[in-house]
Amino acid sequence: MIHFSNVGLRYARGAEALRDVTLSIDRGSMHFLTGRSGAGKSTLLKLMHFALRPTSGELTILGEDAHRATRRSIALLRRRIGVVIQDFQLLDHLTVFENVALPLMVAGHREAQYRNNVLEMLEWVKLSDQLDVKPHFLSGGEKQRVGIARAMVSVPDLILADEPTGSVDPEMGARIMSLFAEMNKLGHTILIATHDLDMVARYGAARLHLEDGRLERCASPSEISSQDVISPEGFDLEGRRGFPGMEGSV
Ligand code: ADP
Repeated sequence: MIHFSNVGLRYARGAEALRDVTLSIDRGSMHFLTGRSGAGKSTLLKLMHFALRPTSGELTILGEDAHRATRRSIALLRRRIGVVIQDFQLLDHLTVFENVALPLMVAGHREAQYRNNVLEMLEWVKLSDQLDVKPHFLSGGEKQRVGIARAMVSVPDLILADEPTGSVDPEMGARIMSLFAEMNKLGHTILIATHDLDMVARYGAARLHLEDGRLERCASPSEISSQDVISPEGFDLEGRRGFPGMEGSV
């Protein structure tokens, strides 16, 4: 599903952020990505949704080659990827409901098809009472929860999350982690960048570790699929895999 072969990334202004990264991530796996601040975690996640292209090496995401991808193929690829990023990137002129519904609106679905799913997702992140609020009036933690709901609502094949529990309290953090775990149980591939080693120890998923732009450790494929340690709280996503009128995940 994800293949890096000797991938390097050098920013136009700055040092090499990633060096010689070789990595394969199987469909349906769940990983933590750890490393100190500046180690290259965000850069690695950006490569995975083609926000950046490698400056050296080969990279394939969901069958799409980073060097050959066109604007259109990248747009289609991104519909299959849910991204939780640190600055949330919410649209200020849209309400909470509209921000979360955005991936489904952009994919051409009608509100009648997705309304209940958006409401259910917002209920999960405890924002049901703020549906009509604009992001400007939300706290950092609330914005983060909107970002997570938006990344998950289309039930994407691949979920990339950069410090997804960084701005929320421990209880909400556990809730969000159980949502990731439930998604993973249903076969979705998850990668969570974090510097919270306690969280990594608690959830016990496979771990990739970056040290100054180099991948230091990579769990074996057998470790990668062992998700038994995570016990989700029973968020029911079964009915979401194909919304009425939609084919599979959107
Ligand atoms: P992390 O997410 O682990 O904190 P990053 O991927 O954000 O690390 O950064 C890796 C390295 O790349 C750091 O040295 C950082 O300063 C540098 N870097 C990140 N973004 C840019 C950029 N847009 N231009 C130049 N250097 C960058």
